[in-house]
Amino acid sequence: MMTPIYNQFLTKMETEIKEKSIVVAQKYHIEVNEEGLIQALTNARKFYDEGYADGQRDAVKRGEWKKYGRNLGECSNCGEIVAVRYKFCPECGADMREVDHAD
Ligand SMILES: [Zn+2]
Repeated sequence: MMTPIYNQFLTKMETEIKEKSIVVAQKYHIEVNEEGLIQALTNARKFYDEGYADGQRDAVKRGEWKKYGRNLGECSNCGEIVAVRYKFCPECGADMREVDHAD
């Protein structure tokens, strides 16, 4: 998901680029493909957002309970055996909530 502030920025930038690209191209004697440039910026942001999301996911320590009976479980992250009612392992802090495996 693209950040809203960047979208606003991109929209303003797109307008400015369209207005100025011919002038800039003439000044530096280079060919500017406006739509190509906008598409490149959009794609770059998409890759950034995806990389950021991956980084966030990796930074969060996760675990799951290996259950012993109804109430106790072993944390897959640290091996501590505690009550499985916790959303986070009280020993190591691992996030024990179910992970969305959509990707
Ligand atoms: Zn743990």
